[in-house]
Amino acid sequence: MIAVVKAATVLGVDGFIVDVEVDLSRGLPGFEIVGLPDVAVRESRQRVRAALKNQGFGFPLQRLTVNLAPGDLKKAGSAFDLAIALGILAANGAIPKERLGNVLVLGELSLDGRVRSVAGVLPMAIAAASVGIEKALVPIDNGKEASLVSGLSTAIIGDLAEAVGVLNGEIEAVAPDVVEFHSKTHTDDENDLSRVRGQMAARRALEIAAAGRHNLLLMGPPGCGKTLLARCLPGILPPLSQEEAIDVARIYSVAEGGLAPLKLTLDRPFRSPHHSSTQAGMIGGGILPRPGEVTLAHRGVLFLDEAGEFGRSVLDVLRQPLEDGVVSLVRHGYSVVYPSECQLIMAANPCPCGFLGSTAKECTCSAHELAAYRRRLSGPLLDRVELQVWMGALDPNDYRKSQESSSAVRERVVRVWKTRKEGNPPKSNTQKVVPIDAYRAELSPGARGMLDRAIERFQLSARAVQKAMQVAYTIALLDESGEICQDHLAEALTYRLSF
Ligand SMILES: [Zn+2]
Repeated sequence: MIAVVKAATVLGVDGFIVDVEVDLSRGLPGFEIVGLPDVAVRESRQRVRAALKNQGFGFPLQRLTVNLAPGDLKKAGSAFDLAIALGILAANGAIPKERLGNVLVLGELSLDGRVRSVAGVLPMAIAAASVGIEKALVPIDNGKEASLVSGLSTAIIGDLAEAVGVLNGEIEAVAPDVVEFHSKTHTDDENDLSRVRGQMAARRALEIAAAGRHNLLLMGPPGCGKTLLARCLPGILPPLSQEEAIDVARIYSVAEGGLAPLKLTLDRPFRSPHHSSTQAGMIGGGILPRPGEVTLAHRGVLFLDEAGEFGRSVLDVLRQPLEDGVVSLVRHGYSVVYPSECQLIMAANPCPCGFLGSTAKECTCSAHELAAYRRRLSGPLLDRVELQVWMGALDPNDYRKSQESSSAVRERVVRVWKTRKEGNPPKSNTQKVVPIDAYRAELSPGARGMLDRAIERFQLSARAVQKAMQVAYTIALLDESGEICQDHLAEALTYRLSF
């Protein structure tokens, strides 16, 4: 008496379909789960047994074997409970087996048989639809995310008896509420550029960073407005498309799912980890691998406030994910890949006390402290930061001037993103791998001469030249210019702080 139920597991942020095969046979009563289950899956036995009894179905006094196939894929979490329970009921005839053939079943069971929400439902539902599964039974709180997947008709399930009733056609399936993606209106947002006083150079750098998805370092004394400016970045970026929003939601479904209903938003993620964060916290990992901050910031912004306080190794480990747009981790022989296409903003004081180069107060740091601080900050990561600006202390006059709001700046940024999408060469939204020659072709003759002189005078490395060209190209697009002129290149060359 074998029954098969479709369930799924998550590796990284991708779902994989798992066949839950349940076999009831004569012999001493027992309950075994095989097929690389982790601890949470093995504990499923106790939950399933209690849930079946408490919902009045009884537990078969037979030899019970559950196999999770494919056998070489590690199964984690508690999402198999409901599928195992329904498999047992199908194996002993309480549900016709054919009714389970094309249905994805996900959910944790409580001892009294209620169905609890689980993490990763969105990627698991995507995996189901991709192999032609047409129906899904999911916990109530996971209903919305599952219903995002087209081609999958989702029913939300409160307890085990309801699941049986729906499968047997005795109870009408309840569909989840219609999903709406929310988006903050940035007009009355506290992080609006109209609240930033002065700092014209840094505002300009922020706009260029947003237009070109460049990384940005804001350096200046405490209280000059670095943090507020950085927090304004998401508000001047174009909103996520529906497709991108689902891609981001998939990550949060894995990272935070099961705890609360998934927030579905078109706002780009903004992550601001504390400087005590560990390497695993930043790029992901741990015994049960979880996405790190670079992945939670996918398609959005990763903000490192007080960047000089982060551990050197923590900063260095960010370099590869930022460059490649993915994090690859190997855990227990499995390789896990997380997406990490995010934009980096760092804010830093110029020295440990914060007042180096300031006119308001004198720096009290020793030469040794200064050297150690700079060593920590400058490194392979800072090499990837295309825009570096100095923010001075505020001038009293700055408070009187009214400033452009985020929505006005966003209009220009959106225009540049559109131009780039429509394929103005060199084309690439991330601009990570465009060869220098592609930009050289875009230079006006005057700019070409200037570039050659700058390379000679400042001894620019190939990477530095490439960074300057990428920034100059973005500035040209903001300027609605068909080529990179001297002015654009000259401005781009100013966004370098010497360390
Ligand atoms: Zn100092």
